[in-house]
Amino acid sequence: MAYGTGFGAVQEVMDRARSSQSVAKVAHPADPRVLWNLGWKNGETKLVRFLSDAVLAIPMHAYTPTKDGGHKDFACTLELQGDLQRPCWICENMTKKVKTRNGDLIEVPLKPTPKVLGVVVVREEDEKGNVVDVTRELDILVDPNEPDGATETSDVPLIALVNQGQNFWRQVNGYYSSFRTTLDRDYSISRKGDRLDTEYIVIPQDVDDDYISFRKAERDQVAPIAGPALWDQYGIVRHGDEDPILEIVIKWIEAKGTKEWFERWLPITSGGVTAVADEAPARAGTSKFSGLKDRIARDYPKE
Ligand SMILES: [Zn+2]
Repeated sequence: MAYGTGFGAVQEVMDRARSSQSVAKVAHPADPRVLWNLGWKNGETKLVRFLSDAVLAIPMHAYTPTKDGGHKDFACTLELQGDLQRPCWICENMTKKVKTRNGDLIEVPLKPTPKVLGVVVVREEDEKGNVVDVTRELDILVDPNEPDGATETSDVPLIALVNQGQNFWRQVNGYYSSFRTTLDRDYSISRKGDRLDTEYIVIPQDVDDDYISFRKAERDQVAPIAGPALWDQYGIVRHGDEDPILEIVIKWIEAKGTKEWFERWLPITSGGVTAVADEAPARAGTSKFSGLKDRIARDYPKE
């Protein structure tokens, strides 16, 4: 094969690079592989529309230090079901430093924290004052049932995962109890404060007229029926009677609990059972890796 020369070849190489970037063909904007992780900075307000009342409550290792010095989310594999359920490498091998009441720093095992996972569409007010979906560019399969089929680039609603603890969900849950659903309106959610002082202020917006009838009907229903209308609106594919959003959330957390995900981001040595503290890169933050057994042997040498 001849080398590609000249500017035509430059273009060709660039086109090839571009097409290989879009190898991850996604079925729709809520595909767990491209699910945006929505967070709030101190002082930030975001307008969101929940896509399902079926949120997933699961203890997980959120924002956990990785071997490249960054942070990633991990499932606590003890909490997963089926083949993915197994002893958790993070629980067994990672620690963090915490301050005791008298100010001493001690190292404790890194335990999973209870999280609730839900999926939202991010919304905003446009110049005319209308509330519209925030969009982003994505390569979407033309036919979601043909994984190897053609894709087209389009502006699609920004669908995002909300991965938060109880100080976020407590209020959402309160509105859910009153309205019997979170799907009939947008919510304005603001964050105040940092770390342990973080507080979320959740303000329900006016009921979306399109969903008033659903809300009335829902009082007599076990399953939320506003869901299907919203899912159709956002092109979310349903398989049978399952809640497609719950399926997406489960796929998302399960992808964070595979052997591949753990080995890619954590300093797991072959066999996947021991980590060596000395090999872990130095990093900022309160958590660090170390083999519990090694550390105990070092800190408490046998006489
Ligand atoms: Zn764990």
